[in-house]
Amino acid sequence: MPLVRDKDKKRLHIKSRLMGESLVRKSLIGELKAPPQVRLFPDVNVVKIGGQSICDRGIKALPAVVEEIGSAKEKHKILLTTGGGTRSRHIYAIALELGMPTGIIARFASTISEQNALLVATLLAPWDGIRIHQEDILKLPTYFSQGCVPVTQGMPPYDYFALPPEEGRLPVHRTDAGTLLMANLIGARSCILVKDEDGLYTDNPKTNPDAVFIPEIGARELMEMDLEDLVIERSCLEILINSEAIDRIQIINGLKKGNIIRALDGEPVGTIIYRER
Ligand code: ADP
Ligand code: MG
Repeated sequence: MPLVRDKDKKRLHIKSRLMGESLVRKSLIGELKAPPQVRLFPDVNVVKIGGQSICDRGIKALPAVVEEIGSAKEKHKILLTTGGGTRSRHIYAIALELGMPTGIIARFASTISEQNALLVATLLAPWDGIRIHQEDILKLPTYFSQGCVPVTQGMPPYDYFALPPEEGRLPVHRTDAGTLLMANLIGARSCILVKDEDGLYTDNPKTNPDAVFIPEIGARELMEMDLEDLVIERSCLEILINSEAIDRIQIINGLKKGNIIRALDGEPVGTIIYRER
């Protein structure tokens, strides 16, 4: 490997395209050509089971969702992630009152999302549900070859290093973002968020009866609409716009039987947010 010395002879470099670069030079980032991102597992569907929208409903929602996923596993490879839900919100409220930093709040959220991953994996036992850790992601082919349905918690592992938000102290990358980041990492076939509404509306349909359903929309357009409330974490929009491997997020109502299978089969059920339109 050729070594190169700086003109002033002080630094020694290994010859490469990035030799001696600060890695923040604007024109470098623009001109840095690279082949497209490798899609590690393009046949895997990443499906998030909502925390407050599905898991917290317990017996009223989870068994049916789990059964639907179990029945789909012969046809589709599914990696499940879980949200935190009501218990996350409870600890967020306590932590905020006590002046906790974002990183501690994010860590709390991870542990609760973990509880729901354990819950879902346990319910999936008859269909070979298996609780996995995020770092096991490269073992996916092994799990699928054994007929398993892997389940992992949805919070991205920023934990103590969660980015301080522009306003307030709640982590902006929570389990929707973690799920999308996971899908982007593996170059998944789809990224489906299972919630308790038919998809995205112009406002929260639980509080605004005049909210209008939006079946499909571009991420940038949605960002520019700057809606008062959203069905997914706002940080997902920027992640989707910047994603190379994922070109849409689908949000479906898991309380309606058959929706998960329809989404896995590629039907335009729910709302589809496109990277670009
Ligand atoms: P999860 O359980 O996956 O964390 P959330 O509860 O965080 O899901 O988000 C889903 C909820 O978002 C819905 O139950 C709905 O009440 C609410 N919501 C807020 N704004 C909107 C909107 N514009 N369109 C649809 N749902 C919305
Ligand atoms: Mg949420």
